[in-house]
Amino acid sequence: MAGTDGVKIHPAVDEGIAPGRAGFQGGVLSCHCGIDPVKVRITSQTSHNHICGCTKCWRPAGATFSLVAVVARDCVEIIQNSDKLEIVDRNAAIQRHRCRDCGVHMFGRIEDKQHPFYGLDFVHTELSSERGWSAPEFAGFVSSVIESGVDPSRMGGIRARLRELGLEPYDALSPALMDAIATHVAKRTGALPA
Ligand SMILES: [Zn+2]
Ligand SMILES: [Zn+2]
Repeated sequence: MAGTDGVKIHPAVDEGIAPGRAGFQGGVLSCHCGIDPVKVRITSQTSHNHICGCTKCWRPAGATFSLVAVVARDCVEIIQNSDKLEIVDRNAAIQRHRCRDCGVHMFGRIEDKQHPFYGLDFVHTELSSERGWSAPEFAGFVSSVIESGVDPSRMGGIRARLRELGLEPYDALSPALMDAIATHVAKRTGALPA
């Protein structure tokens, strides 16, 4: 088994994972600007929090992975400095709204009503000072960190460290989420009853 000493994943999990708190009702996300930060209020607990290795999700400087969760879009409200937000890529399935000054992604939104995850926004709970957000459950798109420049020889150590943290590594999303996507598609095509 590959050694896991010194393998860094993300600051929110490297020292151990804080559990979510029952009854937690959300909080305020702030971008990294020292003055006039963008603030977004989340009015519910998040779900499906996970570590992500894709090249599109925002991650803090130096982190190998991002940390991303979902929340119903009507529980996401921009409360300060909305004029600083810009969409990273309008053609992407997930339209990531970032602060144009510091580059932090405040939320990702799906506008395609046919998309399996329509109605859910993607958020980074580490941008909030509140404690109690749902804990990360797995690691998705792990092999994709190679696309960000991680040497393939490090992947054994990275996967071993993720398992040590209880974050099962997958190279897409977790089986539960992949099944949910496939079920959505099958109901649309008629392969399964709607
Ligand atoms: Zn900012
Ligand atoms: Zn991602």
